[in-house]
Amino acid sequence: MSSIRILSDRVANQIAAGEVIERPVAVVKELVENSIDAGATRIEVEFRNGGKSYIRIEDNGKGMSPDEALLCLERHATSKIREAADLNEVCSFGFRGEALPSIASVSKFTLRTRAKDWEHGTEILINGGKLIEKKDCGMPVGTVIEVAHLFNSVPARRKFLKTDPTETAHITYNSRLFAVAHPNVAFRVLENGRTVFQSPACENLRDRIAEIWGRRLADDLIPVDVSDPQTGFRLSGLTAKPGVGRSTRRELVTLVNRRPVDSRTLSLAVLDAYHGRIQKGRFPPAFLFLDIQPQEVDVNVHPAKREVRFRDDGAIRRFVLKAVTDTLAANREDDIADAVASRKAPELSAACTRPVTEPIQPKPEASQSIPKPQAAAIAPARIAPVPPKTAATKPDTVATTAANPAAQPAHADTPARATPRWRLISILKKRYALFDTPRGLVMLHLRHADQRVRFERINKEFKHDMPPSQRLLIPHPVEFEPLAAEALKAQLKQLNAQGFQVEEFGRNFYRIEAVPTWLSPEQAEAFIRDLVDLVRQRGGMRKHSALSWEAVARLAVEGSYRRNDSLTVPAVEQLAKDLLACETPHTSPFGKPTFSEVSWSEWERRFGGD
Ligand code: ADP
Ligand code: MG
Repeated sequence: MSSIRILSDRVANQIAAGEVIERPVAVVKELVENSIDAGATRIEVEFRNGGKSYIRIEDNGKGMSPDEALLCLERHATSKIREAADLNEVCSFGFRGEALPSIASVSKFTLRTRAKDWEHGTEILINGGKLIEKKDCGMPVGTVIEVAHLFNSVPARRKFLKTDPTETAHITYNSRLFAVAHPNVAFRVLENGRTVFQSPACENLRDRIAEIWGRRLADDLIPVDVSDPQTGFRLSGLTAKPGVGRSTRRELVTLVNRRPVDSRTLSLAVLDAYHGRIQKGRFPPAFLFLDIQPQEVDVNVHPAKREVRFRDDGAIRRFVLKAVTDTLAANREDDIADAVASRKAPELSAACTRPVTEPIQPKPEASQSIPKPQAAAIAPARIAPVPPKTAATKPDTVATTAANPAAQPAHADTPARATPRWRLISILKKRYALFDTPRGLVMLHLRHADQRVRFERINKEFKHDMPPSQRLLIPHPVEFEPLAAEALKAQLKQLNAQGFQVEEFGRNFYRIEAVPTWLSPEQAEAFIRDLVDLVRQRGGMRKHSALSWEAVARLAVEGSYRRNDSLTVPAVEQLAKDLLACETPHTSPFGKPTFSEVSWSEWERRFGGD
């Protein structure tokens, strides 16, 4: 007797079930997609034990007639495609006609459904793929599907299910994704009879996100809407403000033609766009809808359909990267406009603890690239050399006066500083500055901000052929141990092309004669020693290696090179302004946040709203 037999539909269904229905969340996904396809405006999902013992999906969609109800449980019964050619144009979610029979083959399955023109609904009971009962029932238009004891008849599959909490987390997360994908559909999700989340039909995506993730996250997002007429691609939705990052990528949600997808292409493009705009190792929350021609994407890669394949990966990547980057850039300009609007030119009164220096290079062009406070710092140094430690400004006293605006009426009343959009309220603990801004309260971390500002400035100067330099009145001698001296010697030419003037004057002895304006002369020796160490660690510094200069710049702004003359009100205001003009203002060069904002709506929320 032949051992080859045609599989009965029931077995085929159970096999397909293994593919389509990997776990309870897949059941929820298939059924919710069907509800959306059926035009539902209200969907309720209920489940118990991570969906293993019970799942119910109820919708108010168009429902099915008695015949359709029976037919939909047949394998490859679908109302959504007729021929393979149609696969190219699939816009609805389901299209294989596999989900319902597959689910019904591995569970105790109840379908109740009623179409608009019918007086009664139809109830069908199936157990492990066998039709048990079909009868009429009374119900409103729509569909209710209950799936109990999933995989009971397939112990091999049941074994692979994770713990209840894990399966629950998957169901909850996926339901949220659907809710985001369809803000105008009312959702309710219940676990063991308790509401996990619910959201009425929302006017827009932001409201939906606020409903699900909270107003706070919603406020941290900016709108994206970019279309490319050439390709017909469109990216819309909401994406994190620069500086807003999360520790997981769970809120980095991408959808293709309204279908939530896992796509490396998309998430990498988004992450790329945030490079340098959020802390390292964090992820921007984003809810991005990519709309493309159906033939540009293959959703048929895997029956579970979370993965997609693009016809032209590179084109999609470039488009998304550019769309998000441009959106962020435009938003940053708003920020700067906010902060800079109605400000007059910065005052040159930044207090200074600079040692004796004589500027050798403020040529007109060069002085442009010298930030004003530094120019200011240099100027008094030229007029009246002050020894470093007896400088007029003691940070402590400044901090106290600054923290008490009343003590400094000169600043508060000067029309020259007429209401900047970022208004300095106070300097706190010598580390922070609190600002009142149109969006909320901003706490600036002075050191991180200062590091960012100086880092970008130094980097910019490294790119100059001859960056501005300052000559020390008395050259500073430094002795190195032989290997370090050797390393420095090898770098000398390059170093001296960058605003330093360091000369050898005897075995292992060097003389620092000038340093770039970004470096305080009193720290020149320490800096050069660190630089030599860095060079030795890295084994050389190539002329055009941006990375090396970046490393040097990073070194230059590290804690030990901190200027402590930045605690005056004007200096802190200038710092904020300089920071906002930076290319990547939200993080220090070491990836730490430079400021943190609590929005006005967040305050509203904390006080219980209205
Ligand atoms: P597919 O979604 O791939 O077409 P399914 O097995 O998921 O296959 O569903 C089969 C058919 O049953 C659908 O094409 C649709 O006509 C009908 N159907 C399923 N769920 C619903 C629902 N909630 N409301 C109305 N019709 C539905
Ligand atoms: Mg379907």
